[in-house]
Amino acid sequence: MIRLYNTKTRSKVDFESLTRGKVGMYVCGPTVYNYIHIGNARTFMSFDIVRRYLLWRGFDVTFVQNVTDVDDKIINKANEEGRSASEVAAEYTEAFIADMRAAGVMDPDIRPKATEEIPEMIELIEELIESGHAYAVEGDVYFNVRSYAAYGELSGRNVDEMESGHRELRADGAGLEDRKHDPLDFAVWKAAKPGEPSWASPWGEGRPGWHIECSAMSRKYLGLPFDIHGGGADLVFPHHENERAQSEAACGCTFANYWMHGGMLQVNSEKMSKSLGNFKLLRDVLETVDADTLRFLMLQTHYRSPLDFSDERLAEAGAALGRIRNAVKNLDWLVENAADAPSPLDLRALMERTREAKMAFILAMDDDFNTCKALGAVFDFIAEVNAQTAGKTISLSDVPPVRDARELIVGLMGVFGIEVATAGDADTAGADYPAEVVALAADIAGFDGSDAALAVGALLDARADARASKDWARADAVRDGLGALGFVIEDTPQGARVAFEG
Ligand SMILES: [Zn+2]
Repeated sequence: MIRLYNTKTRSKVDFESLTRGKVGMYVCGPTVYNYIHIGNARTFMSFDIVRRYLLWRGFDVTFVQNVTDVDDKIINKANEEGRSASEVAAEYTEAFIADMRAAGVMDPDIRPKATEEIPEMIELIEELIESGHAYAVEGDVYFNVRSYAAYGELSGRNVDEMESGHRELRADGAGLEDRKHDPLDFAVWKAAKPGEPSWASPWGEGRPGWHIECSAMSRKYLGLPFDIHGGGADLVFPHHENERAQSEAACGCTFANYWMHGGMLQVNSEKMSKSLGNFKLLRDVLETVDADTLRFLMLQTHYRSPLDFSDERLAEAGAALGRIRNAVKNLDWLVENAADAPSPLDLRALMERTREAKMAFILAMDDDFNTCKALGAVFDFIAEVNAQTAGKTISLSDVPPVRDARELIVGLMGVFGIEVATAGDADTAGADYPAEVVALAADIAGFDGSDAALAVGALLDARADARASKDWARADAVRDGLGALGFVIEDTPQGARVAFEG
């Protein structure tokens, strides 16, 4: 049973989907007026993991994510740059999709654009007016907050303690407060200002408010209620509170059964902001590090906790990921070099541990998608497999369980969208060797190439030559040099090989 933390109840609850085996999921998408930063990316990557895990657990997931392509920020940017809002929105929508794909985030099943869903928004607003939950004033339409009794429940706020939280200015600079029946009310439709994109409506030319977009699009593509509504923690209030109020007021039903919110991201333990100069765009980060490493870093923190991003943590994530890849390569080598000889392994223990590791992974992920604990299960398993197989040559009968162990590691990391299996090089176990091995091989073995795997091969040849001619100092230099880089040389009946020190 999957349990997840529901923001609405502020507790971990059993997850039961509305339709057996199916999950409808809506995650608020970006407002497309610039490139996304890694704080946004974290939210989208977290929900990508949730979605992938649900798929792996056998659910048929329908994942909807909108694009907010009409908004004050887009209009302001367009005005600054002297071009149209739709041009700005088109450019950054395309950039967003490219960035998400580069980060290994699966495309949503449905990606509606706000500007293409205006009739559905108008329809929803009309329903709200008819049922007394909204009212029109001079081309604007406001939601009547006090008409929806559960307002504040999602974010844990008391309506009577709220000050006018939705202060907005009219085109002429005057406050809107005087036109609203209550300062708490918020706009669901905004009368057009000169030069802005606008659509015809029963209340005149105008454009939708941000909150109504998600209410209309989630209802259209998932139907109400649906299972999971997600977003960053910064969206709980007012955005999600308002989405919920509009949707539930209109339909008289539940909007979303489970509300999930991702934690914020900090850079070097500080809030990320342009003024602090630590603002990082996803695309810039992906210039310096591959998507798998960034994903691995994200997984090391539970999705609801604040995540601290730093170059050190990225480097650590890369090293940890390298250890998993090397473990897979070691297992590949064992399989490729299996001998017709008695088994040196405790097969029963290995098979049992393989089963247990999978269970430990599932238990961790079922517990509110605890990715760090799930990664711990993978590392524990790798340590045990390494302990069992280090320095050994397996027998042909060991191949199936060893292959199962390898497949489990590759498969579990695949749930996270991380590829850990690469084409192996049997002679050198094809490990991810650091660039330093090239210099080491040049130094000791006169190697003049640049390929790290070939350099390791040259080092092993040099060591074999040194041992044959009883040049122990040179043989030890190879061993110590590789040891300093974190590798051990294992002598097997098929010859020497280099393995990562597990
Ligand atoms: Zn939304």
